[in-house]
Amino acid sequence: MRCLDCGTRMRAHRNRTIPYPESGIPNLWLKGITVYRCRRCAAELPEIPNSRRLHRGIADWLAQEPRPLSGPEFRFLRKQMGLRAQDLAEIVGVQRESVTRWETGAEPIGPPSDRLIRLVYGVWCIDETAPLPPHLQRIRDALRSIARKRHRPAKLVLSPAALAVR
Ligand SMILES: [Zn+2]
Repeated sequence: MRCLDCGTRMRAHRNRTIPYPESGIPNLWLKGITVYRCRRCAAELPEIPNSRRLHRGIADWLAQEPRPLSGPEFRFLRKQMGLRAQDLAEIVGVQRESVTRWETGAEPIGPPSDRLIRLVYGVWCIDETAPLPPHLQRIRDALRSIARKRHRPAKLVLSPAALAVR
């Protein structure tokens, strides 16, 4: 491994604990990381294995953490789902500005929203490489369109036979 700045050979320092600002979560650190350090100019290059899987793992972990999410953690979950603040606002049923205020810490994230984003994440990201099970796909489709439809207080007519075969 050679330094990108000066071309000098770099030395591996294993098992380091380093901050991970790329996550957007200021207090998130990664441990067990190999950091390559240039012997000459002191440039450092951490070896982050497979950031795609890492981010998936971080999001899964966050969604299961039994304590309130911080604004940056909330934003991380949203981004992991590939949702814009506007998209999430529509799913949760709030104004886009509310999502922004939660994420920047200007406004506390209410307990229902904290729970809801975890549940949405659970439906959204069960396995991003494989198609969702059909029933979850339909719930996901409903989440996408729920905000664009008006509530119709009409009579709901369901066929038990049709429901059972889906
Ligand atoms: Zn160097």
